[in-house]
Amino acid sequence: MITQAEADALIDAACAPLSTHSTALADANGTTLAEDVVAERDSPPFDRVMMDGVAVRLRDGSREFIRQSTQLAGDQAQTLRADAYAIEVMTGTPLPDGTDTVIPVERYTLNGERLRLDDDYQPQMGQFIHRRASDHDQGTIVLRRGQRITAPEIAIIASNGRPDVRVVRQPSIAVIATGDELVLPDRPVAAHQIRLSNAPAITALIQKAGFERVHWQHLPDAPETLQQHLAQLIESHDVIVLSGGVSKGRADYVPAVLETIGVQQRFHRVAQKPGKPLWFGKAESGSLVFGLPGNPVSALCCATRFVLPALVKLGGALPAPVLNLPMASPYRFKPPLALMLPVSIKMTEDGNATLMPQPTNTSGDFSSLAGTDGIATLPAGTTEFDAGDRVAFRPWSGAAF
Ligand code: AMP
Ligand code: MG
Repeated sequence: MITQAEADALIDAACAPLSTHSTALADANGTTLAEDVVAERDSPPFDRVMMDGVAVRLRDGSREFIRQSTQLAGDQAQTLRADAYAIEVMTGTPLPDGTDTVIPVERYTLNGERLRLDDDYQPQMGQFIHRRASDHDQGTIVLRRGQRITAPEIAIIASNGRPDVRVVRQPSIAVIATGDELVLPDRPVAAHQIRLSNAPAITALIQKAGFERVHWQHLPDAPETLQQHLAQLIESHDVIVLSGGVSKGRADYVPAVLETIGVQQRFHRVAQKPGKPLWFGKAESGSLVFGLPGNPVSALCCATRFVLPALVKLGGALPAPVLNLPMASPYRFKPPLALMLPVSIKMTEDGNATLMPQPTNTSGDFSSLAGTDGIATLPAGTTEFDAGDRVAFRPWSGAAF
């Protein structure tokens, strides 16, 4: 049996970012840049007016002007006729030729075409002009490869005239629930059967973490059927996430079947609770295979703790930061195993996030997971955790931000 940290290292060593491809900006959200993005133009591309108001050539003591014309955003720069004039300008328009100062609309009154500065107002020469290239020059690298693309990056890519960008391919994932006892929610269930819940839950977890290429199916505890389907799935998917069939039961065929189709085991069993039977391997095709224990709490904890970080790395992004947050109440835990403890975020009166333990009765008692936010990992070796002790928190969706 290995530790969680050893399992992390073995998974990390088996993951390399996937190939890259060009994608429309509209489809790039949540992916990772595989190229540097370079500034199309100087930024701003011209001396840019920063306020709605007038542009003037400021001379000592000049307080009255004649409105010459109006220049809207998107208009070309006009030219000032003489010092006595002012050109009405809107935010985002180029500074008119012959002017050097912008006076905001709140600081003067306009009577017909006659404009008078407020008596108590003294403009500063050069004010409210966002100078050309003061943010950066044309050709500057504005985004580097490896950057995860979210709203700010979409703005930067769009503003540099790129309708498409090269990104890392996002992994395709098959989630497989194994178990003869499992019945889908739309079928009648006999007294001795169990409702199938892991596969849709794991799929939801993966989708919430931003990976869209995921689907699930149900397979029986039958070695030949498992072998046939899994052999196809490892050829057509980057990641296979199985639930069930990895423990020591008579119908737990998953490790043996994976071995017959050439998936090399990297580890089996981790010193943690829940989720001790966790299995991980890599196929010759390069696909990663996770065998999660069938118990629903174990399956969700293991998917959050081990599968999501692997997907993030395959997708080319940096690991999501793991937050260390204080416990809201004490917790005691004896066995020499790392504990993955479901928690909900509880805000203190002064606005700090703390972790409220929401222990489940058993690893099958997933009704108590309702309303929880993720898992706290309490390291092996310590048995008593006090309120205020900081522990690693991972949200069910993978990334806290
Ligand atoms: P296993 O790891 O296959 O021995 O399964 C352990 C326990 O988890 C058994 O009680 C199963 O019925 C239950 N279980 C396995 N897979 C699922 C699933 N997809 N949904 C709900 N419960 C499951
Ligand atoms: Mg089973």
